[in-house]
Amino acid sequence: MRLKDQHVLITGGASGIGLSTAERCLQEGAHVVVTDLSSSAGAHVSASLAKAHGGRCHFIPADVTSTDEVDRMISETVKTLGSLDGVFNNAGIGGIAPADTYPDAEFLRVIDINLMGVFRVARAALHQMYQQGSGSLVNCASILGVMGQSGTAAYSAAKGGVVNLTRTLAIEAAGKGVRVNAIGPGYIDTPLLSLLDDATRHALIQLHPLGRLGRPEEVANAALFLMSDEASFVTGTTLMVDGGFTAGKS
Ligand code: NDP
Repeated sequence: MRLKDQHVLITGGASGIGLSTAERCLQEGAHVVVTDLSSSAGAHVSASLAKAHGGRCHFIPADVTSTDEVDRMISETVKTLGSLDGVFNNAGIGGIAPADTYPDAEFLRVIDINLMGVFRVARAALHQMYQQGSGSLVNCASILGVMGQSGTAAYSAAKGGVVNLTRTLAIEAAGKGVRVNAIGPGYIDTPLLSLLDDATRHALIQLHPLGRLGRPEEVANAALFLMSDEASFVTGTTLMVDGGFTAGKS
């Protein structure tokens, strides 16, 4: 088992990529805290995962836009699990609007969740991991962290921020026994894409050289790798899980 008795926290773990990562970590022997908005399906999802995996899954609600809630979430996680070996910093939202009419409030909301939220969780997690002298933090970026796309001004700004934040955190953490990496998913078939019409979905598929959307478990496997000791010499990188999307055009 690749994460046997490791203690893992997953934000946005009630749905999509986060949920899949929780399942994969549990299958590989980890003890997992799933965290998500209190209004989400988190409590229900965690209870059924706990039932299937010998009680090794717990739910702690937290909104990543609140520093108080994030700090409490990390301390409750450490109280529940005993330590913090891996964090998948995954909670995020979409957001589409042309830049010339993008309203401040909507732009700031995307930044507050997708960039500041990642930073709030990273700050509190690193504080704990530095005390332990060990840990692996994995931030969820996107293909839109390394390239632009029309209509995604706020989202791509936030995800670009996550990619470079990851590099800086990795350098700060390197002497403290802690690794920090990111994942850059292509378009993945999760509830985040549920609003797409068929034509848009088809157009997105064409942009992936592998000819399909990704599956949540394919991103989960990358997060699992980066959290595990198999990635012991990997830090500061963004691992693209994108079916070749960012590799180039044919
Ligand atoms: P989902 O919408 O399925 O899951 C995201 C989860 O984050 C939801 O459970 C959501 O809760 C939660 N969440 C939203 N806002 C907050 C908040 N303020 N505090 C805590 N939790 C919150 O999306 P995905 O699984 O697709 O996305 C996961 C990550 O992957 C995101 O960071 C996304 O940007 C990234 N990503 C996704 C891609 C895709 O194509 N799906 C592509 C590239 C990156 P609720 O449902 O209650 O809102």
